[in-house]
Amino acid sequence: MAHQPERPQEYVCEQCHAVFAGTVHGDPPDHSYTPPDECAACGGSGFVEIQNYPSMRD
Ligand SMILES: [Zn+2]
Repeated sequence: MAHQPERPQEYVCEQCHAVFAGTVHGDPPDHSYTPPDECAACGGSGFVEIQNYPSMRD
């Protein structure tokens, strides 16, 4: 349910809410993901893991 191993970790930009796939490091099953250095849309550097992103904020 919560875990979808074939799907990359996604991150949400805290400023403009654009979604980016994380950069993968290592090989399965020990791979990990890191967020982009900066948002390609707004240049922001703050990202939240999509599963921690409040989808019902409003
Ligand atoms: Zn952004």
